[in-house]
Amino acid sequence: MEELSEAQIRASFVNCSTGEATRLFVPSGLAFAPWDELDYFGWGDPNAPGRYSLVYRRGDTPTGIVLRRADRVARIQVHLCSFCHTAQPANDVALFVAPLAGEAGRNGSTVGTYICSELTCSAHVRLQPHAAPIQPYPTTVMRANRARLLERVDRFVSDIERVR
Ligand SMILES: [Zn+2]
Repeated sequence: MEELSEAQIRASFVNCSTGEATRLFVPSGLAFAPWDELDYFGWGDPNAPGRYSLVYRRGDTPTGIVLRRADRVARIQVHLCSFCHTAQPANDVALFVAPLAGEAGRNGSTVGTYICSELTCSAHVRLQPHAAPIQPYPTTVMRANRARLLERVDRFVSDIERVR
């Protein structure tokens, strides 16, 4: 994805107040983040365990959400990340809950989904599959996986905004 500035990131959030967006943790050194290797930019707040943020480009518009990671559920052995559709050991996938946008979110309404626990989907969709006779070229597969990842992120954000 194209590089984002701190100001762009802070202005991008759809499900928190402007005050929260001003205060929330944004990593320093954004110019050095591996933007080329990211489909979305996701990070956790080192001072507030369980608080995460995710920003991607919807078309050209930076669009961000705040998320809260629930405690791990150990009973299930393997989870499928709902964004990158990679099967992971249970510890590597966690339930994330996001407040809905606007009034509903302020009143405590949320939506949740299972996502890679450190928001590392971009790395997973870049693991190239082996070439196989029935499969197109690995780079084609990877490009399709990346596009699908962003579609799923966008669908989740649309659920948060209740625009669907
Ligand atoms: Zn994932």
